[in-house]
Parts: sequence; structure tokens; C-alpha cells
Amino acid sequence: KARYQKGAVVSFFEAETDGEIQRELDILNQLRFGIQNEEFTVHLQPKVNLMTAEIEGFEALARWYSPVLGNVSPAEFIKVAEQAGKIRELDNIILKKVLQFQNERQMKGLKMVPIAVNISPVHFYHESFVNDFITLVNQYNVSSQFIKIEVTESVELFDFQKAKEILLELKQFGYESSIDDFGVGFSSLSYLQQLPFSEIKIDRSFINDINDSGMYAVVQTIVQLASNLNMHAVAEGIETLEQFVLLQKMGCRTGQGYYFHKPMSFEDTKKLLNSIK
Ligand code: C2E
Ligand code: MG
Ligand code: MG
Ligand code: MG
Repeated sequence: KARYQKGAVVSFFEAETDGEIQRELDILNQLRFGIQNEEFTVHLQPKVNLMTAEIEGFEALARWYSPVLGNVSPAEFIKVAEQAGKIRELDNIILKKVLQFQNERQMKGLKMVPIAVNISPVHFYHESFVNDFITLVNQYNVSSQFIKIEVTESVELFDFQKAKEILLELKQFGYESSIDDFGVGFSSLSYLQQLPFSEIKIDRSFINDINDSGMYAVVQTIVQLASNLNMHAVAEGIETLEQFVLLQKMGCRTGQGYYFHKPMSFEDTKKLLNSIK
């Protein structure tokens, strides 16, 4: 599996089967064409207020249909893009599409909610990230409150000082950031306390097992931690009514998951947004 080392992005492979290696090579070979031929699209998944059912925002998720490979999931192509030095380009393709969507709504005076884009840690720690990001948002003239950032914690790349600087700079320009997939990665609490994230996204694997009493306690602790740190908790991957009710009961404000909405096209998002006031 791919591993990163701090500093330079060094990757090596350990014990992958021939089939896995071939698949990664196929993806790598097609990625260039995919980017050139604009094969990437965006789906948006609502973030729902668990108390009021209001849609608070959306998360942008990359989708790729390759004429050669068919649908390829982000779980596969993001990793390859990171290793191949293509992830900044890919993240920015998605960001631009989101900005175009928001710009259009802004120009037309339509209802707007924030949209969060996923930024790979490889991209996040790149020296020109903040500058590139702000330049792009400004190019599309989208107000900073309508674009947010989700970044997954990465043990391999984690750099406390740098993360703090980047998050602070973004915050000064009005951009809020979430820590994604919280709980499964690094999650040092003493660091978290000093990092200016506005939101903690509790990993789907925790929500999946929330009907287990031990896991219930873990999720409840994360929700309380978020509240104590003045951050806002979001539960990922809510699939059942039971999970929804348990999260609501423990005071988790926001949730996402198939129980509410699957990720949807821009067209369906427009219909959904236009149907609410
Ligand atoms: P993530 O940011 O944690 O996104 C949540 C993932 O969970 C998405 O998978 C979403 O489709 C899926 N999901 C949402 N609700 C449910 C549910 O109720 N049940 C289940 N089983 N799954 C649910 P997806 O779209 O396959 O993306 C996987 C990961 O790929 C994302 O995890 C994110 O880390 C990464 N990713 C996606 N788009 C981008 C992108 O544009 N840039 C970067 N750097 N990473 C991206
Ligand atoms: Mg995310
Ligand atoms: Mg997540
Ligand atoms: Mg996740």
C-alpha cells in the first residue's frame, strides 16, 4: 500500500498483488487522459441539521467515468493521483467546478449554502496551497463563506506548526476548515485543541457501529469534545433511522449519509436548493 514520508512525497509499494499493481497502473495511465478530456465531474452530498432537518451545506465529491476503465471510485484514483503528483490539479478541477456552480447562483441571486471541497493532505501542505486556493476563489468572485475545506488527518504528513499556520491564514481570509474522518487517523487531542478547525467530521466507521454501547460512548465523547473546543460535530455515513436518532439524542448538530441524501449531480442539487427557501 502507498505510504508517504514527511517532506518529499516518497511512495513505495509493499506486498501488492499483481492484480492490484496492474489496476493502479491502468488508473495511472488513464488519469492523464481523464484530466485532459475533462472526464471528472462533481457530486454534492447535503449536510443536514439533525435538529431542524435544514440543509446547512454540501460536500463536493469527485466522480470519474473513464471510457476505458468505466467508473473509478475516489478511493482508488485519489491515492494514485497523490502518488503521481496530480492531486493538486485534480482537487483544483473539482474546486473550479464548485466555484462555477456557486458563482452562477450568486449572480442569479439564488439561495446559497456553503460547499466544502476535499483537499488532500499532499495538496494542503504544498507551499502554494493557500495562495492558489484564495486566488481561485477570488477569480470566481465567490464570497468566502460559501466555500469550505475538508482535510483528512495524515500521520505521515502531519506537521503541527505548518497545519496551524495554514488553517489560521485560511481563517483570516474567512475560510472555515474541517478535520475529516476524525478518529481513525492521528487525532492527537493536545494538537487538535490548538488547531483552528471549525468542524470535526466523525468517521463513518464509528457511526456504522454506533448501536454498540462502547462505540456510542466513543461518539458521544467526540461530540462533547467538539463542543468543548468550540467546534461543530458532523457525523458521516448515517444510513439508518436508528443511527440518526442516537446522534440527535447526543446533540450532534449535523449529519450526512444515505439515510438523508446520496451524493447528487449539480442538476439535482439545483432542484433540491430551489425547492427549499
Ligand atoms: P470523505 O471525504 O470522507 O467522503 C465521504 C465518503 O462517504 C464519500 O465517498 C461518500 O460518497 C460516502 N458516503 C456518504 N454517505 C454515506 C453513507 O451513508 N454510507 C456509505 N457507505 N458511504 C457514504 P466517495 O465519494 O467514494 O469518496 C471517498 C473519499 O475520497 C472521500 O472521503 C475523500 O476523502 C476522497 N475524495 C473524494 N473527492 C475528493 C476530491 O475532490 N479531492 C480529494 N483530495 N479527495 C476526494
Ligand atoms: Mg470529506
Ligand atoms: Mg469524511
Ligand atoms: Mg470518510
